[in-house]
Amino acid sequence: MKTYYGKSVFNGIAIGKTSIYQKGEQQVKRVKVEDAGSEKKRYYAATQQAIEELQLLYEKAVKEVGEANAAIFEIHQMMIQDDDYKESVENIIDSQQVNAEYAVAATGDNFSKMFAAMDDEYMRGRAADVKDISERLLNVLSGRHKDGMGTEEPVIILADDLAPSETVQMNKDMVLSFVTVHGSVNSHTAILARTMGIPALISTDIKLDDTVDGKLAIVDGSKGVIYIEPDKETMAVMQEKQKKEQEQKELLQMLKGKPDITLDGKEIKLYANIGNSKDLATVIQNDAGGIGLFRSEFLYLEKDDYPTEEEQFAVYKTVAETMAGKQVIIRTLDIGADKQCGYFQIGEEDNPAMGYRAIRICLDRPEIFKTQLRALFRASAYGNIAIMYPMITSVWEVKKIKEIVQEVKKELEEQNIAFGSPSQGIMIETPAAVMTSQELAKEVEFFSIGTNDLTQYTLAVDRQNAKLDSFYDAHHPAVLSMIRMVIENAHKEGIWAGICGELGADLDLTQEFLAMGIDELSVSPGRILPIRKIILETNVGELKR
Ligand code: PEP
Ligand code: MG
Repeated sequence: MKTYYGKSVFNGIAIGKTSIYQKGEQQVKRVKVEDAGSEKKRYYAATQQAIEELQLLYEKAVKEVGEANAAIFEIHQMMIQDDDYKESVENIIDSQQVNAEYAVAATGDNFSKMFAAMDDEYMRGRAADVKDISERLLNVLSGRHKDGMGTEEPVIILADDLAPSETVQMNKDMVLSFVTVHGSVNSHTAILARTMGIPALISTDIKLDDTVDGKLAIVDGSKGVIYIEPDKETMAVMQEKQKKEQEQKELLQMLKGKPDITLDGKEIKLYANIGNSKDLATVIQNDAGGIGLFRSEFLYLEKDDYPTEEEQFAVYKTVAETMAGKQVIIRTLDIGADKQCGYFQIGEEDNPAMGYRAIRICLDRPEIFKTQLRALFRASAYGNIAIMYPMITSVWEVKKIKEIVQEVKKELEEQNIAFGSPSQGIMIETPAAVMTSQELAKEVEFFSIGTNDLTQYTLAVDRQNAKLDSFYDAHHPAVLSMIRMVIENAHKEGIWAGICGELGADLDLTQEFLAMGIDELSVSPGRILPIRKIILETNVGELKR
């Protein structure tokens, strides 16, 4: 048995086989070959297999998201068989006497650059498709899978680090736990693990090689330990611990269906955070009162091109309908910083966390923003949707958003397209927003405090930097005073205030937040019932005294 230690980002026990995650982007080596003919044969066979994969994906997508949305897989099948593409690969293999992988990668690169340089917007959009089909061919040639796992059974994922765009593409049913060598406790991958409610470790002192790959292992999330090939004794102890945790969870099940009201009658909106419509099952299982943060940017991250209005509309409508009248707060896209999305072409920045991100991109590129707003307003005719804008620092930004919203509504009206009237709020996640919260409160219907970023910007600590994890103190008095101030200013102007950052799920602070007068807590689904327990046992009036 080998034991490795990391920092825990979510507790629980996972028992299963490990699988080292392979990065999506491949480093392709240029290898001289003797027999160009057999390289071409490998390429033809890979093309055939990729077409079959795409056909299966097409059929799956038709069932899940309808023909119109599935069409992309048909287009990819055509592109992969395109004569120009094929000739280019053959020519590189023949003329340079190199391996099929190199020829495919070089062709993919050349063709996507060529598309990206075109004037026509539609053709520019094809650049990402060429990359995608080339990546698929490379995966087939090297025997890897796009989700990075290549597995038929749920596994413990071992990785050097994981970007949000990588985690979001994984088949969640196949993940028992995440264990990474790098990463920070406050990263979005850590947040995702919490949303999924699975044990996860980061900064783990494990070397990713054959001695740990594919082995039976146990992750103990509460202790921050992974045991590879555990001995009998450890297995027995861990199985017992897993059983106890299960019993604990079952006890909490009794709280399902109970309203979130304190002993002295204050009703709290106890909502869940999600990143995807696939998370809805856990939201419902945990009996959340609504959704307090739908990180819509994950819709953008899981794609190679901007999601269309129709694609977004379909997702928002599904979420609203599934929640059946309960509030669903959808945050407009918060791309940038650690959530990088190639096709946005944000470019290198010295300081991405303080850079071109979130509402700044939306105000700078209103065509992207408007597409999302149209989808949101249309979907809000089908349920209780609210819209929330991230990374606000100034009143003028909110005024500008309102102007754009007016334009969107006018266009929809003129086109005779039905839409609802979602309530609109902002995230408070910059010190500037805190200090001007009374002014901001006059402009919107609610506040949701993003403590993850608020802590980062208040303490000047990059939330992505693992070296600073011990300085990233969300309990810092400055952060807590800011939360108090925001709640007070919201109430002065008659609007509600909640917390949707990770601090909202901190059970040690639930009572403190209740005493401050918090109206809403939005947390990972697995935290709903433990917080409900505290709410039901708390007398806010007494606490204040
Ligand atoms: C936050 O900053 O607290 C927040 C909820 O947003 P995100 O973690 O997605 O930046
Ligand atoms: Mg944030």
